[in-house]
Amino acid sequence: MLKLKTTIMAFALAGLAVAASNSGALAQAKATIGIAMPTKSSARWIDDGNNMVKVLKERGYNTDLQYAEDDIPNQLSQIENMVTKGAKVLVIAAIDGTTLSDVLKQAKAKGITVIAYDRLIRDTPNLDYYATFDNFQVGVLQAQSIEKALGLKEGKGPFNIELFGGSPDDNNAYFFYDGAMSVLKPYIDSGKLVVGSGQMGMDKVSTLRWDGATAQARMDNLLSAFYGKKRVDAVLSPYDGLSIGIISSLKGVGYGSKDQPMPYVSGQDAEVPSIKAILRGDQYSTIFKDTRDLAKVTADMVDAVSNGKEVTVNDTKTYNNGVKVVPSYLLKPVVVDKTNWEKVLIDSGYYKKAQFD
Ligand code: BGC
Repeated sequence: MLKLKTTIMAFALAGLAVAASNSGALAQAKATIGIAMPTKSSARWIDDGNNMVKVLKERGYNTDLQYAEDDIPNQLSQIENMVTKGAKVLVIAAIDGTTLSDVLKQAKAKGITVIAYDRLIRDTPNLDYYATFDNFQVGVLQAQSIEKALGLKEGKGPFNIELFGGSPDDNNAYFFYDGAMSVLKPYIDSGKLVVGSGQMGMDKVSTLRWDGATAQARMDNLLSAFYGKKRVDAVLSPYDGLSIGIISSLKGVGYGSKDQPMPYVSGQDAEVPSIKAILRGDQYSTIFKDTRDLAKVTADMVDAVSNGKEVTVNDTKTYNNGVKVVPSYLLKPVVVDKTNWEKVLIDSGYYKKAQFD
């Protein structure tokens, strides 16, 4: 485990000054942490926000949690507000990772520490740390589950596949896609996988704002333009919300029956409706990212920064934000399908069994 020295002197000194003039640790512990989340339209971000508030409150911080409903100017003004109101640390899951440079400049001028949460913030020197999951590995796991379902390793095929990517303004989307292609590309090259539409590359397959309706419309088009006579056997989907749109498009043209079984569709976030879809056999797999762990790692960063201690990171190479390599802590994603969902999601206490009865 690598240790990095934090250089947040201004904040450390400010903290000491407050501690000296009031009653020690308690006064310092009252610092407010601004938490900017992208949207409530997806359950995972609601869990992220709730978990962050819970852990930070337990550790004695005040929190200011804001959701921006995927509206970039809205998120900008929420963060500006946090800066004005004197947040000591900002924890930000950006909507568009390239739009925050100005407000982060203001934050830096006030000695505020900035942590990118789950999504990298790009094109700014004023980002201190990044807490996330191994995003490349997410894509690898998604593709490996398709590889397993189709029996590609055993030499089966050829099969038809379509590829979907995430939002092009989210750095993660490229990591998911690249991770998935590291597994799928050799099969595409050898002809065991055929992309029926020929549409490959993030410039062709991305889905702005991770919007399920956009994915559904694209799947409708792909099915009518390229799958009149042949069947699609698998769909790489990077996120459960897209999978829902893709699945309803597939059902709309008759997939999901005995004669025309569903293709294998991947996903991400292990959201409740998608676990139900897996249990019904509509979706094949998803990726579980334990937001409790991400909240804990992020709170550890906040604690270290607040107390002038070293921040624990485990990756100092992967995440170049266009200006610098951001010291990061990467957690491990887990693939979930029919065979292990109870063990991973229920036994761990993340969900209750009754949610799926
Ligand atoms: C997150 C994913 C999520 C997606 C859509 C990404 O940045 O890492 O977990 O599925 O955004 O919300």
